[in-house]
Amino acid sequence: MKIVYHKRYCEVYASDPAAAPGRIEAIVKELKGKFEFVTPQPANEEDLRLVHTQNHIEHVKRNAPLAFEIGLLAVGGAIKASEIAMNKEPAFALIRPPGHHASPDSSWGFCYFNNVAIAIEKLRRNGKIEEAVIVDIDLHFGDGTANIFSGNPNVIYHHVADNSREKFINDLKIFLDSVKKCDIVAVSAGFDRHEMDWGGILKTEDYTLAGKLVKEFAEKLCRGRRFAVLEGGYNHAVLGLNVKGFIEGFM
Ligand SMILES: [Zn+2]
Repeated sequence: MKIVYHKRYCEVYASDPAAAPGRIEAIVKELKGKFEFVTPQPANEEDLRLVHTQNHIEHVKRNAPLAFEIGLLAVGGAIKASEIAMNKEPAFALIRPPGHHASPDSSWGFCYFNNVAIAIEKLRRNGKIEEAVIVDIDLHFGDGTANIFSGNPNVIYHHVADNSREKFINDLKIFLDSVKKCDIVAVSAGFDRHEMDWGGILKTEDYTLAGKLVKEFAEKLCRGRRFAVLEGGYNHAVLGLNVKGFIEGFM
């Protein structure tokens, strides 16, 4: 199990809750010394163009230059995690800004570039995989990821339904059971559905179980290839524990 991390993810590039001071540090504190950390390289604009328009890239560069810079590093982190997964070791990209609200030509909800979508699309374009599954456990629907892959039968995006703990786990199980074939599974790992976060629903142990279910799915269908990227999660008091809980099931 590897944690993909760069100290520049701690930089406060915007005034939104995902960019809040101390957020990434709270996660690092829980993981440091327990897992191996690896440092990614920044992505380049060619990587961004795998899923985004030049118009969107220029818009971010012009209006949010620091977010653009850290955003390239976040995309690079997701790519690095996907490469580690291809080498049959699970990886967690401890990155920000998040990405699942980034569509081809626009973004919102604290997102700029779609980290997970770019990582998957890069593997596909390089001929390393054909089919992929993206499981989104964030509180919010990843409209960006859904838009990017809409009409593409080779990449299945699924946002796990909420309302209750039981429904969440059940929905995840039913979805994973419905997939018959895939070459890699990625998790858009948001932790804002926790009982002490915005969603007020899940317990830390539910993230562990979700991680375990995805791990078992990967071992059954795609030679264990799996990686996760950080999306939401805003209560710094519990975020690190939830990430650690997820990783313990996922590894
Ligand atoms: Zn969210």
